[in-house]
Amino acid sequence: MNKMAVTCDKCGYRFKIPKTKKKRFLGPKEGKVFVHYFNCPECLTKYPYYIETDKVNEIIQKKKKLQKANKVEKDNDQITDNLKEMDHLNRIGRIEQELLKKHFTLDD
Ligand SMILES: [Zn+2]
Repeated sequence: MNKMAVTCDKCGYRFKIPKTKKKRFLGPKEGKVFVHYFNCPECLTKYPYYIETDKVNEIIQKKKKLQKANKVEKDNDQITDNLKEMDHLNRIGRIEQELLKKHFTLDD
């Protein structure tokens, strides 16, 4: 995942995503929030990469469980249901990330 190449919006420099750092926030309803981010190596602009909260971790755990279940599941209907549920979790995960990125910004 960390090998993805990105282009900096500010200076146009193209680089591979470096090792992320994390900044801790305390959200009113989210509790502990960790914003994982990286800097453009050229102009040091901060980019949020992934935001971690209890809710986000819960979604990831549920997804992992379904993935694992599908490896041994024999019932095709159940497999389809699990895939649908994983799709759904992916969608709420993405929406959650968008919302969190708006609330927890890295500007000092
Ligand atoms: Zn830059």
